[in-house]
Amino acid sequence: MARFHEAKLYGAYIRFPQRCTRCNGIANKTYEITVMSFLSTEHGVQAPICRRCYRVRKGGGIIIYTITGLFFISVMVIILGILGILISLVLVIPVIMFFHDYLDRFLNRRIIGVWGVRVSPSEHFLTLRFSDISLGQEVEKLTEQELQKSARGASEYEGESAR
Ligand SMILES: [Zn+2]
Repeated sequence: MARFHEAKLYGAYIRFPQRCTRCNGIANKTYEITVMSFLSTEHGVQAPICRRCYRVRKGGGIIIYTITGLFFISVMVIILGILGILISLVLVIPVIMFFHDYLDRFLNRRIIGVWGVRVSPSEHFLTLRFSDISLGQEVEKLTEQELQKSARGASEYEGESAR
């Protein structure tokens, strides 16, 4: 059902084509795509984006965080009252982090078309998904080329298996 291209990319060498990932226009900004698994270290990937699409993504974030924030506050006030909220906030922080990760991914998927999925245990590899399959393949290829250019990166990539 899901239509996207998943690419496991060597994090330090990820390269995008220099055009807006959303509209293919001239990219004069970057948007940081966050890659993290629940409670793992957060990594940022800079996706090229035009000014207009950058504003759309930022605006989308403000709207959806305001709506979900107000919703959660209302539900908690109804259930717990103000004092209950202060006490349970400590317990609820992991839940907030989970929702943050989910919403961030949702917005990147819907608006930019590139979203982070996971960080490998070594933290060398970041898994991204692309709505535009050919863009995903292009990023994969550019990243691979960038990796090959770096002798240090290439030897790291092949690990100890070469010896
Ligand atoms: Zn754009």
